[in-house]
Amino acid sequence: MDIRYKSTRSDLTITASQAILQGLSDDGGLFVPVQMPVLDIPLEELPKLSYQELAYEVMSRFLTDFTEEELKGCIEKAYDSKFDTAEIAPLKKADGAYYLELFHGSTIAFKDMALSILPHLMTTAAKKNREDQEIVILTATSGDTGKAAMAGFADVPGTRIVVFYPKDGVSKVQEKQMVTQRGENTCVIAIKGNFDDAQSAVKRMFNDDALKEEIGKKGFRFSSANSINIGRLVPQVVYYVYAYAQLVKSGEIKAGDKVNFTVPTGNFGNILAAYYAKQMGLPVNKLICASNTNKVLYDFFQTGDYDRKREFVLTSSPSMDILISSNLERLIYRICGNDADANRAFMEQLAKGGEYQISPEMKEQLTDFYGGFATEEENFAGIRKLYEDTGYVIDTHTGIANAVYREYVGKTGDHTPTVIASTASPFKFASSVVSAIAPDQMDGKDDFALIDLLSELSGVKEPYAITDIRTAPVRHDTVVEIPDMADAVLEFLNK
Ligand SMILES: *Cc1c(COP(=O)(O)O)cnc(C)c1O
Repeated sequence: MDIRYKSTRSDLTITASQAILQGLSDDGGLFVPVQMPVLDIPLEELPKLSYQELAYEVMSRFLTDFTEEELKGCIEKAYDSKFDTAEIAPLKKADGAYYLELFHGSTIAFKDMALSILPHLMTTAAKKNREDQEIVILTATSGDTGKAAMAGFADVPGTRIVVFYPKDGVSKVQEKQMVTQRGENTCVIAIKGNFDDAQSAVKRMFNDDALKEEIGKKGFRFSSANSINIGRLVPQVVYYVYAYAQLVKSGEIKAGDKVNFTVPTGNFGNILAAYYAKQMGLPVNKLICASNTNKVLYDFFQTGDYDRKREFVLTSSPSMDILISSNLERLIYRICGNDADANRAFMEQLAKGGEYQISPEMKEQLTDFYGGFATEEENFAGIRKLYEDTGYVIDTHTGIANAVYREYVGKTGDHTPTVIASTASPFKFASSVVSAIAPDQMDGKDDFALIDLLSELSGVKEPYAITDIRTAPVRHDTVVEIPDMADAVLEFLNK
């Protein structure tokens, strides 16, 4: 079956490879499959497949204009020894729940799962569509995405990547990870401004026709590695199916039994992938959407009112500090009956007035989801309790999902086996994690001393991503003012 993609804001359809190349539709909409592919493999067969084999089975059903050879080539390059475990995404049981560890890639956060393969999908898509221009990825980052994108694109032929980060707006570990990035095709630029300044300036560059023409003459085109790209969503469906396969394999469930997924959510990309897995036919009961104090999504699931007009709160789960969850648009489009005009009207209301309200009929279609949120105190208490009861240590994003899941069980009595998406290594947020599990041992320790302590307390060896930045030389030291960002890009491309 040939799957085409259409924008959530118009009725234009294109192929999968074109959707990956384009990222966002020109009308501002996101690309969605016109029909949801079906996972037509017997569930009993799933446990026999390796991560890579399963990735092929799932992704080939979405990306139907890629040949078997092309797609297998991409998978082979992505899911290799960059991951520190052959299982790629291992499942760990602790206190009755299953933690799906999505942080064994090069930057020790779940963004690696999709950003390891996106560069290969993009360059393959460019070849298929006879695009001979070199792809230039522009990314503004608040810390995690930029590094994961660079790790994915570093030294991939036919691509370059420029990452902008706010000079004083990221953690020490995050800054060190970025400025030590290897790869001749990578460029890291600190800007004198905050993340919003960086993000707005990048958006202006994407829309700057004169700039696009200038780089076009030199043989380049801009693209985005942002989480709205369908090439990031599809690889994420894989690990939900893989988690299910692991549960069958270990005898925790029988093929056909239902499971719940709990996902710590920001931009709604990760949990949407779980929803797609369910739509494809994976036996899923509830999708538990866990928010931190920025609980726009919790309120939305409660009331049907999406309202971003509120104070933005900085929390210890910074990758979830988001008030506009871009990928929710794909769900809204679906529950309004795949009506592009209706969806566009909601998105216009959000852009203009900061709010929209869905109809009762639409809200009735949200029964697959349960929305919950956890405060900082609940998050830290949950991390500490899990550690004290089992010795297992989770990071502050996974901690939000953990706290929400435990509350969900208390409220509903639903004991369906539950997989919790574990989205970052605790070593990436060592300071917050140690303050949760051993607050009396913090006393003035710097980041690396806290990492040592965490290793001791958890009995887990520090990941290579951390060891690497302890000694890696600084390769990027450019700092620019906001108005000079475009010139900095041109200078890099002229090299
Ligand atoms: C990006 C991120 C999230 C949020 O995922 P979304 O797909 O944006 O909902 C959660 N945890 C970590 C560690 C992340 O990096």
